[in-house]
Amino acid sequence: MATAELTICEPDRRDAERFVTRHFADLIGDLDGTETSLSSDVFRGGQRHAEKALAELDLSRYTRDRNHAYPRRQRAATGLSPYVRHGMLSLPRLWNEVTGPADELHRFRIELLWQEYARHWYARLGPATRQSLRYQRHERRRTLQPVSTPVAIGHTGGPEQAPGWNEQMGCMEITSGELFDDGWLVGQTRLWMASQWAVREGRDWRDGEDLFFAHLLDGSRAANRLGWQIAAGLMSERPYAFSRWQVETRAPGLCASCDLNTDCPIDRWPDRPPTQPVDTPNPLLFRDPQPDRTAGPAEPASTASSDPTGTPDVVWITAESMGLDDPALAAHPDLPVVFVFDRPLLAKLKLSAKRLTFMVETLAELATIRDVEVRLGTPAEALAGRRVATTFAPVPGWRRHAEVVEPQVVHPWPWLHRPSDGDISSFSCWHRELWGHALDDRPAAPAQRQIPMLQKMG
Ligand SMILES: Cc1cc2nc3c(=O)[nH]c(=O)nc-3n(C[C@H](O)[C@H](O)[C@H](O)COP(=O)(O)OP(=O)(O)OC[C@H]3O[C@@H](n4cnc5c(N)ncnc54)[C@H](O)[C@@H]3O)c2cc1C
Repeated sequence: MATAELTICEPDRRDAERFVTRHFADLIGDLDGTETSLSSDVFRGGQRHAEKALAELDLSRYTRDRNHAYPRRQRAATGLSPYVRHGMLSLPRLWNEVTGPADELHRFRIELLWQEYARHWYARLGPATRQSLRYQRHERRRTLQPVSTPVAIGHTGGPEQAPGWNEQMGCMEITSGELFDDGWLVGQTRLWMASQWAVREGRDWRDGEDLFFAHLLDGSRAANRLGWQIAAGLMSERPYAFSRWQVETRAPGLCASCDLNTDCPIDRWPDRPPTQPVDTPNPLLFRDPQPDRTAGPAEPASTASSDPTGTPDVVWITAESMGLDDPALAAHPDLPVVFVFDRPLLAKLKLSAKRLTFMVETLAELATIRDVEVRLGTPAEALAGRRVATTFAPVPGWRRHAEVVEPQVVHPWPWLHRPSDGDISSFSCWHRELWGHALDDRPAAPAQRQIPMLQKMG
């Protein structure tokens, strides 16, 4: 299969949408002609928008309202995640640059640590994160069962595909609408939807995770799988118990407008699904025999089998790292840049048009300042015979491609804390391992002194 070179469009929303329909029509999951918009109304791709979101960040109500769901204007979640996901805002940068009242900043940094933990977890365990890692359900796996009142929403496809959430429930209607229209949800409503899917409906969490992944602009296997495993009760004995109580607390007034207000199916706490510890936990949860493989190089390094000292002639950027301070991009300011839309992968994932438009907008903006070549094919074909500089990405797909591409130089991933070889079986174990104390035993002291990682990072 040959790779096609695509002429990148102008950095304009409608041009980016046209680019997506023109080049990816057969690869998109939700292009059924009924879409009103092929891009998110809320999030625009590109470094400029990432910088704007960062400049407007206000942490003053963060702790109190970050879990607030509706009305939207009262939310205090930062909405930075699509830019974090695609490397336009790195975790070290957010850690060091974001300011705010000490307690709010502390809370915000804990959330950054969750992102870092998810990345360590996925970098080490890779595809094993699709299995139940610590707890498993007793009953047989249920696949693609329709919900009690099946209503397909925004998710088209063959008859084998699952419908979405029960839209008669106001809390599912509004959240699934946001997922499919904006490609984004606050963390609180992600938990509602995942718990409704996996705990109340008993559906397979992997199908729900795939559906989120296809639509969320920040969809990453690391944080998404971790979130679903936690919601489904596979990381501890306790799943996330979703009930009317959370809706009334986090979305005041929503239940009053719901058709099922007086016949609410989630009036009571759900039964806890019967789970048991997995028989033989994956040993990688507790020890990493190859921490340097997990973390990638600590210094720029070559993996080329021939002429490892040769100079690169092109920078390869990936979906993990599309920002201007991508280490390889920054280290080679004069080299042309290549981005490859991986056709076989896209054909499998069937991402939403909005996800693809977000990435195209980002590339189109980059093309205004760098020489950008966009390809549709495979990285192996697009980069064959070229001397490539790139940034390590802590995901299995990058490793697979890099083995074939053999980059001339691999730049280190911007970790907040380089992964260790210790216990990552839970966030608290991971935290204790790296920081030497549990989150809750931290001494009451000014924020910077509470966070040894900050000192390590200088
Ligand atoms: C079922 C489920 C699926 C999820 N899927 C994803 C996903 O695909 N991609 C993703 O980035 N996050 C995911 N999360 C985590 C979290 O919900 C989002 O990162 C967060 O809601 C993004 O909103 P924000 O930027 O306003 O976050 P804020 O609350 O403002 O937090 C700041 C940053 O910290 C990070 N962060 C916050 N909470 C978490 C968390 N629980 N896990 C990991 N990182 C976190 C994000 O990068 C976020 O941008 C998921 C959570 C659940 C329960």
